[in-house]
Amino acid sequence: MIRLSLGTAIELGLLNNKNDIPPTTAYVMIGDKCNNNCAFCSQSTESSTRRDKLSRVIWPEYSKEDILKAFKEYKGEHIKRICIQSMASEKSHSMVEEFIEFIKNDVNMPISLSAKLEKDEDIQKFFSAGVDKIGIAIDAANKTLYEEIKGNNYEEKLNFVTKMAKTYENKISTHIIVGLGESHKDIYDLYVYLKNNNITVSLFAFTPVKGTKMENTSQPPIESYRRVQLMTYMIDRGYLEKDFNFEDGYLENIKIDNIIKKDIHKGHPFEIRGCKNCNRPYYNERPGSTIYNYSRMLTQDEVKLAINELNMIDFI
Ligand code: SF4
Repeated sequence: MIRLSLGTAIELGLLNNKNDIPPTTAYVMIGDKCNNNCAFCSQSTESSTRRDKLSRVIWPEYSKEDILKAFKEYKGEHIKRICIQSMASEKSHSMVEEFIEFIKNDVNMPISLSAKLEKDEDIQKFFSAGVDKIGIAIDAANKTLYEEIKGNNYEEKLNFVTKMAKTYENKISTHIIVGLGESHKDIYDLYVYLKNNNITVSLFAFTPVKGTKMENTSQPPIESYRRVQLMTYMIDRGYLEKDFNFEDGYLENIKIDNIIKKDIHKGHPFEIRGCKNCNRPYYNERPGSTIYNYSRMLTQDEVKLAINELNMIDFI
């Protein structure tokens, strides 16, 4: 089963509709039910959510022939990368290989793959197949949460991701979901560790999906998310623990210099980060609701709003 995100299907001309924010990456989901049992995910074994949903994005199904034809006929300029999200099963991984083999001679775009891969030889296999970047999701920012929510061993996962990042330099990425119950200090510690080990990190805001174990958990407060975005933006630019003041794990204060102040006023810390050209429109938000990750540059009104949401006005 191969699915495209609704926005991708529209951008590729497979659906007759309009995107208000066109995706800059084509999002492809491969495989049926996942073998994992992550408490937040619509695709986990215990979820009763519709199979065509991941987070809050709808994913209609297409044949690989139709997808390839759409790519060949694509005249748009937005899509510059393909991101394949594979379900965790042997069968899904084989389908991913087949799909890449099927499109790679005709579609000249880097491919990111997000999959539960646990052996070096599997990682090697997908890089040899033509994948540019492999994402191994950590999702939860501390050991207790990780083991409770994902049901696997945290240290093993972290060690594996680190080892792969050393073997395949600049080729390994991961996701952190903010709002699962971690503290800001947990995110700081994990983020610094990942950054020091050359691992690309992208942030997601937890989004409850009906039918999952966490359907009744709220999204993180926007103040908290904005602070995490600013903190991680600054860590990427070399700022250190002395610039962040945590109280009981909560990021109370940030020392903001003129360089960061300028970036805040351009809205950069609040834009989506991750693999190059990945903008993930509406993964965490409904059109018209609170925007956690901006998939494009912010307008001046949005910058003002984000500064208010940071609620650290004295420092800006
Ligand atoms: S950052 Fe974007 S392109 Fe990279 S793995 Fe995550 S969703 Fe895919």
